[in-house]
Amino acid sequence: MRIAVVGTGYVGLVAGTCLAESGNDVTCVDVDARKVDALEKGEVPLYEPGLQELLNRNIKGRRLHFTTEMKAAVGPAEVVFIAVGTPEGANGDAELQHVLKAAEQIGRAMRRYTVIVDKSTVPVGTADKIREAISKLTKVEFDVVSNPEFLKEGTALDDFLRPDRVIIGTESERARKLMGQLYAPFLRTENPILYMDTRSAELTKYAANAMLATRISFMNDIAALCEKVGADVELVRQGMGSDKRIGYPFLNPGIGYGGSCLPKDVKALVASARESGLELELLRAVERTNQRQKTLLVRKAMKHFGDLADKTFAVWGLSFKPRTDDMREAPAVELVEGLLGKGARVQVCDPVASPVARKYFGDRVLYAPTCYVAAEGADALFLATEWNEFRNPDLKRLKATMRSPIIFDGRNVLDPEQVREEGFTYYGIGRP
Ligand code: NAD
Repeated sequence: MRIAVVGTGYVGLVAGTCLAESGNDVTCVDVDARKVDALEKGEVPLYEPGLQELLNRNIKGRRLHFTTEMKAAVGPAEVVFIAVGTPEGANGDAELQHVLKAAEQIGRAMRRYTVIVDKSTVPVGTADKIREAISKLTKVEFDVVSNPEFLKEGTALDDFLRPDRVIIGTESERARKLMGQLYAPFLRTENPILYMDTRSAELTKYAANAMLATRISFMNDIAALCEKVGADVELVRQGMGSDKRIGYPFLNPGIGYGGSCLPKDVKALVASARESGLELELLRAVERTNQRQKTLLVRKAMKHFGDLADKTFAVWGLSFKPRTDDMREAPAVELVEGLLGKGARVQVCDPVASPVARKYFGDRVLYAPTCYVAAEGADALFLATEWNEFRNPDLKRLKATMRSPIIFDGRNVLDPEQVREEGFTYYGIGRP
């Protein structure tokens, strides 16, 4: 099939590359000319394991192209994906300007029956708005599909190539058939395509993310209670997760959820419900807990040191989760800013996100080439992202170079007993 993908961010680039990998002819279009230039040369502008290789292979196979020209991409396409950003608006609602602008540009560029597929995360009713915007601009026949994306940064390729399920929201039989053909190569196992109306599809994405955020905040509340009553949240988590009705995923306490999706999607769901006259009290509490959690380590440090001015701290991990360089809404940003705000010096390190971190912190922090260098002379070490390489550090080496052996483990990845045996003071989340 001839496909166009509008927006070459995490979602658009992964979707475009994977759709090319299954034999389609894909043209990705972006308004960012520098990004398109880089992609044409085969340079991936973001960190996602495996993406570089897959991109190179499909560029070489002439199935994957990049352009800034909407007409060249959309004109010949049978299916056009919209994968542009939907950032948080002024009232917490999803900002739809990029989606609607893309829709208008598609409307002007279409030359044949086209299925326009919205992959961006959008509030209920957006498919109707897309349809309306395009109808005003063209007489060419088209259908609109809501096809929310569930890929996770860090495992995005696998998630796209082997999805748990694919959600197709459409009222059109013709579009439904085309989408079924397009996704068939990715669903050779028992994993289903779930067909539904556009509104249910749009809401499914928000509901799924809100549920994940709820589990995280729930566990962070339980962790806070554990600290008050002298229980160990890691034991409680195991006891809960082993119940098949509950399961383990998304039960890890920490320093809050971040990233480009959960925070904004929870807020957007609350805002869109409010517009419909419904107050989603549970999700407002989920947000409040998350905000509290993001400041937890600074508060713990204040309690320990009394004053953080002129202290030196190491922060390990900057991305919002491992295996990505995405720092949007990363808890590490709030942590570093909190420490700097109290007058501390901060030495950071991250396996891949340091170049991105410069956009956040500029010259206000020291970017260490390795984690051990970051810890040199530090009054304490903060572990903010659970990269694998932080799970089993050389504690003797650390102790020898730090000014004082104190660890604030924001992800509960270290063994408190082992760390204490090595002479460290250890603070985790919800652990005695
Ligand atoms: P992103 O910000 O990384 O990328 C968006 C891209 O769209 C940018 O390159 C931008 O230049 C481009 N763009 C904006 N307007 C355009 C236009 N009119 N024409 C062409 N290009 C345009 O965003 P992302 O992280 O890929 O997210 C995209 C959407 O997918 C969002 O709605 C997000 O909520 C959703 N989503 C994201 C993830 C994720 O893990 N990142 C997962 C699932 C769903």
